[in-house]
Amino acid sequence: MPLTVLGSSSAPARPGPRDAPAPGPHAPAPAPSTAAATTSRATLLLNATYEPLCVVPSRRAIVLVLAAKAELVDVADAFVHAERVAVSVPVVVRLTRYVRVPHPATVPLSRRAVFTRDGGTCVYCGAVATSIDHVVPRSRGGGNSWDNVVAACRRCNHVKADRSLAELGWSLPQPPRAPSGADWRLLGHRTVDPRWRGWLGMPEAASA
Ligand SMILES: [Zn+2]
Repeated sequence: MPLTVLGSSSAPARPGPRDAPAPGPHAPAPAPSTAAATTSRATLLLNATYEPLCVVPSRRAIVLVLAAKAELVDVADAFVHAERVAVSVPVVVRLTRYVRVPHPATVPLSRRAVFTRDGGTCVYCGAVATSIDHVVPRSRGGGNSWDNVVAACRRCNHVKADRSLAELGWSLPQPPRAPSGADWRLLGHRTVDPRWRGWLGMPEAASA
C-alpha cells in the first residue's frame, strides 16, 4: 500500500500529537466493562489515506472529531450527546493528519480470528462454523498455528476426528495461512460492523 508517499509537504510523516490514537497491535483495547453501555459502540478509524487503522470506542472517535483531529466518513442514525452538542454516532472516521503505522504485526491466533479469516463457515462443507479444527491433528503433531487451524462445523470436526485429510479424501479450498495487513489488525478479536466491510476490503460473510 503506498502509504509513505502521502503528503505534499516535505516533512516526513510523523506520529500524531500525543493524544492521537496509537494504532498498533495492542491499540484496540477492549472497552472497560464498567462502561459497556456507553462504549459498546465502536468506530472504525481510518488514516488520512483512508487506510483502516484500528477500532476505537465511538466516544473516542467523537472526541477526535470535535477536536478536528478526525472527520466523519460514515455515521449511524443514532445521536449521542457530547460536550453539550448532539453528535451522530460515527461509524467510520478519518484522521485529518496522516499517522505513520508500524509494520503490521502478526495477528494473534484466536478462535474469533480464525472464524473471521474463514468467513464464519466450515472450510470443508460450507456450513456455519462452530468449532476450530486442526488440519493435522494435534495427536499427530499438528501445531496450534495459523497454518494448521481452520473453522469447521461440528459435524465435519466430529467426522474428521484424528484422521488426516488424505485419509478422508478431503481437501481444503486453500492452504490456511496467517492473516496480515492493516485490515487484519482490526479483526482478530472483534465483531465486524457490516458498514466497515467496504473499507476493510472484506467479503460479505456469515457472522461467526
Ligand atoms: Zn463442515
